[in-house]
Amino acid sequence: MTTLEAICADITTLDVDAIVNAANTSLMGGGGVDGAIHRAAGPELVRECMTLNGCPTGEAKITKGYKLKARHVIHTVGPVWHGGVHGEPGLLRACYANSLKLAAENHLQSIAFPCISTGVYGFPADQAARIAVETVQEFMKSPGTTQSVIFCCFSDEDRMRYDALLGLT
Ligand code: ADP
Repeated sequence: MTTLEAICADITTLDVDAIVNAANTSLMGGGGVDGAIHRAAGPELVRECMTLNGCPTGEAKITKGYKLKARHVIHTVGPVWHGGVHGEPGLLRACYANSLKLAAENHLQSIAFPCISTGVYGFPADQAARIAVETVQEFMKSPGTTQSVIFCCFSDEDRMRYDALLGLT
């Protein structure tokens, strides 16, 4: 059985097989959720990230979780919003799909996503949530996929948005 839910929490506190980091192409840490994950994981995380040679937008790379409760971090790079006519929706879809693919390849059973690109990268929250839910629901139809997916929101507004899309309100 698969479960898909939205919660409101600090993603760095979650006890799951992998949390997803909304990273930047350098993978060297940054602000927002990226900074929070690096602070909570400790300096070994950036040391492993240094060996990965960055990550293109829309792709994903996996590391260990170090001091986090989460066993792994899947680093994906969301698109910066430039009006929506530069392939941003497709790139955001790719972030979710490539993260789930990596989770399945590594036999991970539970994964939590933040609201990728909706902070400083400026992707409109409604559209981003629709893309996130559609992409994950589509992916979870395939066999051998991750059993539990959490949309880890950082505001009640975002959580309500996801609940509505998941048909829970
Ligand atoms: P991006 O650069 O992809 O826009 P941000 O980190 O600026 O990334 O924001 C992405 C989302 O992560 C935003 O919705 C922000 O509120 C949220 N966020 C920030 N810190 C955390 C955290 N500790 N746990 C979960 N979500 C967080």
